[in-house]
This record gives sequence, C-alpha cells and structure tokens, in this order.
Amino acid sequence: MQAMSESALREQRLEAARRRGYLVLCACSVAIHAAIAAQELPHGNWRAALVALLSAALLPAILSRQVSAQRLDTLVVWAANLGAAYFLWDFYGRDLRLGARESLTVPLFFAVWLGLLPLRQAALRGGLLYMALAALVLRHWPTDPVPLLYTGFLMFLIGQMTVAGRQIQQELSRTARYADLALTDPLTGLLNRRSLERRLEDHYGPQTSSVRPVAMTPPAPGEGTAPIGLLLIDIDLFKAVNDTHGHETGDQVLVAAGQTLRACARSGDLVARWGGEEFVLLVAAGERAVLEHICGRIRRTLAEQDWPEALPRVTVSVGAALASEAHDAAGLLNLADRRLYRAKHAGRARMNMDDVQAADLSGDALALSAALPELTSSR
Ligand code: GH3
Ligand code: MG
Ligand code: MG
Repeated sequence: MQAMSESALREQRLEAARRRGYLVLCACSVAIHAAIAAQELPHGNWRAALVALLSAALLPAILSRQVSAQRLDTLVVWAANLGAAYFLWDFYGRDLRLGARESLTVPLFFAVWLGLLPLRQAALRGGLLYMALAALVLRHWPTDPVPLLYTGFLMFLIGQMTVAGRQIQQELSRTARYADLALTDPLTGLLNRRSLERRLEDHYGPQTSSVRPVAMTPPAPGEGTAPIGLLLIDIDLFKAVNDTHGHETGDQVLVAAGQTLRACARSGDLVARWGGEEFVLLVAAGERAVLEHICGRIRRTLAEQDWPEALPRVTVSVGAALASEAHDAAGLLNLADRRLYRAKHAGRARMNMDDVQAADLSGDALALSAALPELTSSR
C-alpha cells in the first residue's frame, strides 16, 4: 500500500511504456527492412538488409533489464545520428532523386531527435539534415520542388506537434506533482490524512453517510475487501516535549517517530500522519496477533533501538481496530480512538484493543467523533 510515491510509480510506468515502444519500433523496422531487402538484394542492393540487421541487433538491448531506459534513449539517438549521416552519404553517392521513401525517411530521423533531445538540439539536427538534403536535391536544377517542400512541411508538422505534446506533458507532470504534495505530510514526508482517507475509501467504498452510531453491529463475516487493521498511535505527553525542549525539537521528535513507524511497518502497510502527534498505521492484515506484534516492535524500537541521541525518547499509546469491526472509515477510526483513549486512561505506553461500549465514548473520543464528518465530507 505504501512505499513508492505516486510520482515514482508513474515514472516506472512511463519507463516501461517507453521500452515497449522501442520494442515495437525495432520489430517493425526489422520486418519492413527485411521485406525491402527481399526485393532489393537480388539486384545487389544490400542497404535495407543492413538496416534490418542493425535494428535486430538493438533488440537484445531493449529487452535487457541491465540496459536502463536512459541508455536506450542515447542508443536510439546515436542510431538516428548515424542513420541520417549514412542516408545523406547514400543519397549523394547514388545521385538519387527525392522520392517518397526519402521524403518520409528524413522526417523520421527528425521525429526521433525531437522525442529524445532538447528542442534546440533536435531543431539544429533537423535543420542541418534538411539543408543538406535540399543542397543535394537542388544539384539537379531545374527540379520538381514539391517533394522537397513536402518533406519540409512534414518536418514542420512533426516539430509543431511535438512542441504541443511537450507543453501538455509539462502541464500534466506539474499537476501530478501538486497531487503528490496534496497527499504528503510536509514535516514527516509520510502520507497525510487525505491519503489515509483515500485508502480507507478504497477498502470500504465511497462513504455516503457521516459517522455511524457508536454501538456498531459488525458486518457479516467475509464482507468487504482484503482484511486490514488500523493502529491509531499517539505520542505520550508530547506537549511536555515541546514545553521542555522547544517546538523545533518537538518537530524533530515527530520526524523520528515517523521514521520509526515506517521502519516497523511491513511492506504493504501504510503509515500516515493523522495530525499533530498522532499517526495511523494501516496494516495489511486482519488478525489481532499481527497488530499486537507490530505494536510490540514499535515500542521496542522507541525504547531500545535507533533513536537519535540528541532527542528525548518518547512512548506511544495505541488504539487498535480491525476493519472488519466497523462498517466504514469513520466507524473504524472512531473505534480506534476510543481504544486509544482507554490506553491513555490505563497509564499510557500501551496498546488497547478491548471491546468498547457506547458508554465509553467520552472526552477525547467525543472530540474526534465531532471531527469525523470532515472525513466523509472532505472528498
Ligand atoms: P497525551 O499523552 O494525553 O497524548 O498528552 P499530549 O501532551 O501528547 O497531548 P496533548 O493533546 O495535550 O498535546 C499534543 C501537543 O502536540 C500539543 C501541540 O502543541 C503539539 N503539536 C501538535 N502538532 C505539532 C507539530 O507539528 N509540531 C510540534 N512541535 N508540536 C505539535
Ligand atoms: Mg493527541
Ligand atoms: Mg499525545
């Protein structure tokens, strides 16, 4: 559930799509040039066969995970550079006229550069290629200007579309960055309350009503999706940390606590800052024993291990609840909060997962349940 941020996931997906694109292009290039070679080889023209072989030679690099997508980009740019140089040399050597194949080949090189290089570099290469081509074509003056003009028109069109595409791409990634920021807590770098709401919504489905009645009837066994458990974790006597060591140290303690929770979570669990000195660990498991185990690990880590020496040690109280005990996100958080209240009441530095009755709802729990409609209405 946690670990990779949404933008990192997006990056990974884009890279995979790029690799697939190269694979299709390369396979097409092999097939097309092999077909041309079949016609031309009998006449002693081996150029298409050479291009087919070179394209085939790129396939292992595209398929290999050892070769990064950036390396592939560089490889493809170089293939286009060499291809364009070879094209001009061939065009000059054979004293060709500009035909349909040549008119299409030149914009293809330009498209590769535009896709992979900064705009200026791509435009420079495309401009030089076109001017060289024009010089070779105009040797045969008077000549039909249409193929040359058409090639120029195609290159202009591709350039224009690429610029527009890049602008859209920039806009999209800006929006994605804002979306990432909106889901992250700036102090601890953990997911924030809104992220947690989304994940709970994924579990229970979008909520239509506000907080359910306190005395909940658990849903039927097997209802809902994959089992999850929730730990509502509150740092004990945190106000005293601020008062004694200052707000800045308090902030550092929050960051360190967030890191500890991350370290104690398993892959698939989600850690979020719920607000202030409260965190939520959403555990991808539906058994009480797992929640107890994770709480034990958190307590030990806070008490014995990996805690910055400069910072005061803290303990936490935890209210634990299983998603199967509630009908919706608000009910689950409400239950965890009442258990947290009990853990505090019983002396702090402990987890509570006892059955709670409606009569237990008081104090802090009331405050939280008053805030809960926000959870259901904020999306
Ligand atoms: P309890 O054991 O009952 O939870 O006591 P507590 O002192 O932890 O709880 P209380 O609710 O009285 O105080 C919480 C404190 O957390 C008060 C507030 O100033 C502090 N706090 C909330 N957000 C931040 C923050 O972002 N940075 C810092 N440094 N302090 C914060
Ligand atoms: Mg608190
Ligand atoms: Mg506290």
